[in-house]
Amino acid sequence: MRPHRAYSPGLTGVLSLRESRHLLEVLRAQVGDRFTVFDAEREALAEVVDLGPPVRYRLLEERRPEREVGVEVVLYMALLKGDKLAEVVRGATELGVTRVQPLITRHTVPKEMGEGKLRRLEAIAVEAAKQSGRLRVPEVLPPIPLRAVPPVAHGLLAHVGAGRRVGEVLDPGKPLALAVGPEGGFAEDEVEFLQERGFVPVTLGRRILRAETAALALLALCTAGEGR
Ligand code: SAM
Repeated sequence: MRPHRAYSPGLTGVLSLRESRHLLEVLRAQVGDRFTVFDAEREALAEVVDLGPPVRYRLLEERRPEREVGVEVVLYMALLKGDKLAEVVRGATELGVTRVQPLITRHTVPKEMGEGKLRRLEAIAVEAAKQSGRLRVPEVLPPIPLRAVPPVAHGLLAHVGAGRRVGEVLDPGKPLALAVGPEGGFAEDEVEFLQERGFVPVTLGRRILRAETAALALLALCTAGEGR
């Protein structure tokens, strides 16, 4: 069987039906095949003992790889049109985000997110965590209005035309909050509100980025760019 990482909360010895189907139908797993199982805290080499479904496995050897950023990174991301949030959740998970908090702002076109879409985004976070070797699957939360964003100790706000660069403002040792606006941008009073909440406006260069590109560029500067 090709190398595979399966998400199995609690490392209970039994895979979910979704993970079992992937192992059986895509990877054609057989009894005795080895693969990796992980949850939020642990990762282990496992061996298939029963095809079920559900697939049952036994743990062979536990590992504790360090793949997390080391501080909490929360992304406050305006709701976007179509399926663009999926792109954000996938990339943000790879880049080490702890939590994605969708926001409803003045210029967001969608003003809500259905239960089905939220579940899909959660599934994308699980897939991206698996693919990137992370143990911790980021939370994807239901949207909140911008005015419900709590005060933050260290926040960066991607804002077109801001004067400061990420490197001038970022304190890599501190838990971090990031904010990115919708296709139409944040309204000026929303920018002021976020500043009052502790977010410092930063530039992401001279070009206008799509919101999803901006989110990943900002995260990349704060995590990958710091080697974390
Ligand atoms: N006309 C809108 C404006 O001026 O805000 C453009 C919005 S842009 C398509 C969507 C979001 O991406 C923005 O709200 C901002 O958070 C972020 N963004 C895009 N380009 C950026 C840049 N060069 N610097 C900082 N943030 C940027």
